Amino acid sequence: MAFIGFRCGRCGATYDPGEVRYVCPRDGAEGTLDVLYDYDRLRAALDPERLRAHPARSIWRYAPLLPLRPETLTRGEGAGPLQTVGWTPLYRAERTARRLGLRAVYVKDDGRNPTASFKDRASAVVALKAIEEGASVVTTASSGNAAAALAGMAAALGLPAVIFVPHTAPPAKIAQLLIYGARVYLVEGTYDEAFDLAIAAAEAFGWYCRNTAYNPFTREGKKTAAYELWEQLGGRAPDRVFVAVGDGNILSGIWKGFRDLAALGWIDRLPVLMGVQAEGAAALAHAWARGDPDARPEPAQTIADSIAVGRPRDARFALQAVRETGGAFLTVRDEEILQAMQTLAREVGVFAEPSAAAALAGLEKAVREGMVGEEEEVVVMATGNGLKDVPSAIRATGEAPRIPAAIPEALKHLRAEW
Ligand SMILES: *Cc1c(COP(=O)(O)O)cnc(C)c1O
Ligand SMILES: [Zn+2]
Repeated sequence: MAFIGFRCGRCGATYDPGEVRYVCPRDGAEGTLDVLYDYDRLRAALDPERLRAHPARSIWRYAPLLPLRPETLTRGEGAGPLQTVGWTPLYRAERTARRLGLRAVYVKDDGRNPTASFKDRASAVVALKAIEEGASVVTTASSGNAAAALAGMAAALGLPAVIFVPHTAPPAKIAQLLIYGARVYLVEGTYDEAFDLAIAAAEAFGWYCRNTAYNPFTREGKKTAAYELWEQLGGRAPDRVFVAVGDGNILSGIWKGFRDLAALGWIDRLPVLMGVQAEGAAALAHAWARGDPDARPEPAQTIADSIAVGRPRDARFALQAVRETGGAFLTVRDEEILQAMQTLAREVGVFAEPSAAAALAGLEKAVREGMVGEEEEVVVMATGNGLKDVPSAIRATGEAPRIPAAIPEALKHLRAEW
């Protein structure tokens, strides 16, 4: 295992693997930890060509780059849906590229994960970490997808899960939690409030806490998407990646993955990272505009429930990811998100939930504002499946018309239109 410790994103203090569990003791929740690796050792041990020939079509093909012991990995690789986390398809969106006047647009469909969102990457790694740490219960707060992912992975591993989600979470996500057998608490408050509650409960009852970014291993699971992009594009990084942002952990995870590849000497430049937020939940975009290294809490209100975050928990690393890659934060309106949901489905064939479609809405806006060069190869991360929030899809499209079943009458209806 090449995992050698942690570094605090706020004060820079470093810790040994066993020394801390979640966040920097000096900075509390503001001090999320970056996981450190011995890159010299990895460089000597790993051959990119061999890695690319690895038979596992999942995140486990990157096992040496994950902070888990070999015994733990053996267990995870064989456990039901854990086997198929990641290695999601990357589609070339020809018509979108043509319409936007770009060389290439790709859509990475992470809605194809076992519980239908990008969050499986993090939850699979964290659920195994929980086992490694000897935990008997795992817990998390979530706007829905992280919890569904943890509940699914915990079920596959036979590990009890306790979940805190806002009572306003889409019914499909709550159904996922319940059907996987998690103990579900619908919190009468926001995701941001549920987050603090889950930490308090984990402390009170000794549960292992997956909370996004608070648990340093969520980013490590999420970074695997960057490795996949590198492989799927034939061993190089794209020019620019658009990611929908709530806590900022997917963004910082993708950055981490590309930084790993650069540290290994397998790429020589990182893609420009573009963070897309909903206009009504834009704490990071606002911090970015002010030039601040951290975010201030704000109210969060958007149809895109997975990015309805008022207090982004991975703010520092997310802001740094965008700053250091020369990217930007963008905000998009809910109507633009609903429009992008239709575009993504009709132009690419990918049915994504609103939060995922926000990434495409961000690309559209960036192109309108002249931020993207026409020679660029752009990736849009489709982070969650559209079936997770069917009412929003219907809201975007409107209802289908009803027609009578009797053929003559039905044909009369149809003739009026065709
Ligand atoms: C969680 C999530 C995001 C945002 O990820 P953060 O790490 O919170 O920024 C985007 N889209 C979907 C579908 C998600 O579930
Ligand atoms: Zn610190």
